[in-house]
Amino acid sequence: MKVAFFGRTSNGKSTVVNAMLRDRVLPSGIGHTTNCFLSVEGTDDDKAYLKTEGSDEEKSIKTVNQLAHALHMDESLDAGCLVRVFWPKTRCALLRDDLVLVDSPGTDVTSQLDSWIDKFCLDADVFVLVANSESTLMNTEKHFFHKVNERLSKPNIFILNNRWDASANEPEYMEDVRKQHTDRCVNFLVEELKVVDRDQAPNRIFFVSAKEVLNSRMQRAQGMPETGGALAEGFQERLKEFQCFERRFEECISQSAVKTKFEQHTIRAKQITEKVQSIMDAINIEAAEKRVAALEDREYQIDRLEFVKNQLNLLIDDIKKKIKAISEDVESKVSSAMGEEICRLNIIVDEFHADFHPSPHVLKIYKSELLAHVEEGMGKNLAFRCSNAINASVQSSQSYMMESMLPLLPSTAQSQVHMLVPSRKFDLSYDLNCTTLCSDFQENIEFNFSLGWTALVHRFLGSVNAQKALRLVDQNFQASRPALALTPSSGPPSTIAPPNNETALMSQEDLMVAMATNVASLTSRTSMSVIIVGGVVWRTVGWRLIGLSASLYGLLYLYERLTWTTKAKERTLKRQFVDYASEKLQLIVSFTSANCSHQVQQEMAATFARLCQQVDQTQKELEAEIRQLTAKIDQLETVQKHSKSLRHKATELEKQLEEFTNQYLQPQQ
Ligand code: GDP
Repeated sequence: MKVAFFGRTSNGKSTVVNAMLRDRVLPSGIGHTTNCFLSVEGTDDDKAYLKTEGSDEEKSIKTVNQLAHALHMDESLDAGCLVRVFWPKTRCALLRDDLVLVDSPGTDVTSQLDSWIDKFCLDADVFVLVANSESTLMNTEKHFFHKVNERLSKPNIFILNNRWDASANEPEYMEDVRKQHTDRCVNFLVEELKVVDRDQAPNRIFFVSAKEVLNSRMQRAQGMPETGGALAEGFQERLKEFQCFERRFEECISQSAVKTKFEQHTIRAKQITEKVQSIMDAINIEAAEKRVAALEDREYQIDRLEFVKNQLNLLIDDIKKKIKAISEDVESKVSSAMGEEICRLNIIVDEFHADFHPSPHVLKIYKSELLAHVEEGMGKNLAFRCSNAINASVQSSQSYMMESMLPLLPSTAQSQVHMLVPSRKFDLSYDLNCTTLCSDFQENIEFNFSLGWTALVHRFLGSVNAQKALRLVDQNFQASRPALALTPSSGPPSTIAPPNNETALMSQEDLMVAMATNVASLTSRTSMSVIIVGGVVWRTVGWRLIGLSASLYGLLYLYERLTWTTKAKERTLKRQFVDYASEKLQLIVSFTSANCSHQVQQEMAATFARLCQQVDQTQKELEAEIRQLTAKIDQLETVQKHSKSLRHKATELEKQLEEFTNQYLQPQQ
């Protein structure tokens, strides 16, 4: 802390400093020794020394006279330079708190007030104007403080009206003089400088005698009574007033110290709290905006998810129905196409040409090639009839599915959705499998005379009964010739198991009943007429007719025998095959059409499943996004909460800083 003493030469500035330091530290009474500023500050050393400006040399001083001499002799000292006197702290309590007292050369001795102010006054905490109570305040003194006041805002100024002991010589004027001085000083501080309020001004103006105080304090330090006989009247009051000045001065100094130490920090802290407040406000606003945006976004995503779910459910029903309708359509199309193709089977079979020979080996190859031809031909025909229409309907349904699903997918996935629908043409497989189906086809290309025994039995008993009858005859024939039955060429196809006795008996009974019925009916209808006609014919034509009939019969047999060529056998085989295959194919119409319908269903279901999977993916993405947004909203809420609480803390701190400023840093009024 720095205290600067100003006033005209010989007003007693050095004496005041000495009185405060309770020792003759600075030379006095000899006018100002130099035009230098003298500062006194404490040192931890035991010895006093001085330092001149621009030199680090510590010049030892023992007495005031030495100091005065040293200053007087030092020609290197320029006007307005600073000589620092270091005084042991052990010898002066005032210097212990880093107080620096600066004595000036006298406001009347310089014309360089401005440079003084720049050099010594800008960092001064307290100014003490030492005036002479025996005269009025001089303009030079006032002028100096006006200049100081221009550069510093509200400097702390004390006015000491020194040499007040002289007033004791004229006690009758004392009060008037005091009042006069006080008014002038108050006017100077309050009206001219405006550094204090009028009610506070008297606390800055004191009437003292520095010389008396110094003397008494030095006497006391030397153990002598401080109220020596030489002391003038009113000394006690003047001493008290000096002490009062010292108290006020110390208060001011400590207040100024607090200000110096804490004001900058407080200002900085206030700036920080303001900055923190504005940052927290900005964070809060930003977080609130982002939170609102996230809430809106989440609302939108929830709506979209709901829409996708509902729409998907509706679509699933709709598309299931569509798939069912198409499957049924395919089934009926394939079924009717197959029916038509079975009717046209003879054309396909007729178109088949291959080497034919009744030998079993060639026959086997012929039949297998015929089967392959039929399979291929029918497959082609069916494909020609159905595939295009089915393909078109499958494709249109697939594009319908895709278009219905499209709005449920995000725009990024929409452009790729066509990849989910297969670009290949749907290939329907009819899978007739004729080879297995007709594997047990057995042709009959043995010569059969149309008026032979077998044919006649067929004619009389119907084809079913005839077969049974013929089989029985064969069995009886084989029973009588068991050795022959073992030969492969003689028996029926190995696929037919030989019937056991019971079945044979049953069949025999059935046959007898059938024969009896047929014969009876024949008898009942024609026997009488045949007998009558026979008798008449017999009598008329006799043996000649029998002979003619026999020869006719023989001729017919011969004719039939001769026309039974390989070609005829092939035709017969083909006819038999057409009959057989038609019957077998009829059986698998419903199976094949169901199979085709199943294939279409599979194809459509697979495409739909892929699309559904894509929608599922979209749903999952939406759900993930909603979760993320919820987390973000929570985070933003936390940020808002924290920013608010930090803002409150900053406001609280600001309030405390304000209170601190009001309590400790405001100038005492
Ligand atoms: P400066 O030039 O302002 O530093 O004044 P000094 O302290 O050197 O004092 C000049 C003279 O005035 C010295 O002889 C002091 O003894 C004398 N003096 C200082 N204070 C008082 C005082 O209060 N009363 C009287 N009567 N003389 C004083």
